[in-house]
Amino acid sequence: MTVTARIVASRISTNVDYDKPGLQCGFLRVPHSSHESAYGWIPVPICVAANGSGPTVLLMAGNHGDEYEGQIALMKILRSFEPSEIRGRVILLTAANLPAVMAGRRVSPIDGGNLNRSFPGDPNGTPTEMIAHYIENVLLPMCQYSFDLHSGGSSLEYVASVHARYGVDERIRADTLAAITAFGAPYGGLFKPLEGEPRTMGAAAERKNVLHLNIEIGGGGTVSRELVTKAENGVRRLLAHIGIIPGAPRDDMPKKIRYFAIEGASNYVYCMDQGLFEPLAALHQEVQAGQPAGALHFPDTPWARETVVKFECSGVVLCRRFPGWARRGDCLYQIGSPSQYVAL
Ligand code: CA
Repeated sequence: MTVTARIVASRISTNVDYDKPGLQCGFLRVPHSSHESAYGWIPVPICVAANGSGPTVLLMAGNHGDEYEGQIALMKILRSFEPSEIRGRVILLTAANLPAVMAGRRVSPIDGGNLNRSFPGDPNGTPTEMIAHYIENVLLPMCQYSFDLHSGGSSLEYVASVHARYGVDERIRADTLAAITAFGAPYGGLFKPLEGEPRTMGAAAERKNVLHLNIEIGGGGTVSRELVTKAENGVRRLLAHIGIIPGAPRDDMPKKIRYFAIEGASNYVYCMDQGLFEPLAALHQEVQAGQPAGALHFPDTPWARETVVKFECSGVVLCRRFPGWARRGDCLYQIGSPSQYVAL
């Protein structure tokens, strides 16, 4: 059974009918009155594919505009959909923060909004806040699952990995680990959000009891064909896992999935100076607490000795800073600690 969107006071309207079977493509109309367009709206593309009874899943990319693999993967999946093969409903938001996507930037050039720090949003706020509010209060209540595709964007580079919040609900946690496994990235794990972080899509999904995965693949402001394919096949496997499509390719499943945990601040390495960042560890590398992580060199005082930052925990390098320049407060690495969770 599909569930109709609750009536909420969103200012966003749409020309798709979430209850209609078949494939529909249209727009969320995000009202935006500007100098160039007094009565205008921002056209965020939205597609719905529905057929028969089954679960509802939200597939999302372009939460951050400069994260490309997931956007391409979802566009390919959308264009290949045969609604008659679907059991349930798939809602696709492939360019969730459209102004950021069209600018190729993490945040919206209109309001500076970072969608993934804007939940629960505001129906009368900025465009980014209106989009967040619509996702949390209109889309998520229709869903049992939401899969949000990210990468490291312009400033970070990720291994192919699936992350989910360490929820308090044990049943959802077990189902989450099963979904992480079904995606088939070489790394998957649970994280405890720093300071409880309530502003992300993952937090919004948790508030709505929706099983949510944050898929992190690639980054560096570029696109890797290999990782686009991993993202596409992984999402297809998730759709098969939850019973929406009959099957999915399995030839790129890893021989082994390494499960990790991200428990707190020690899983991150931060820059404490300003200079040229020389990474001393690579993606996928096993590192030990106390091991040198990166050296910072100072071009304005070339005779000054470099400073070295160290890893604060042991584990595998999931993500690293991509650009050469780094400033105090920039994240240099994220480490996945070996997980205590049972692999499924
Ligand atoms: Ca991101």
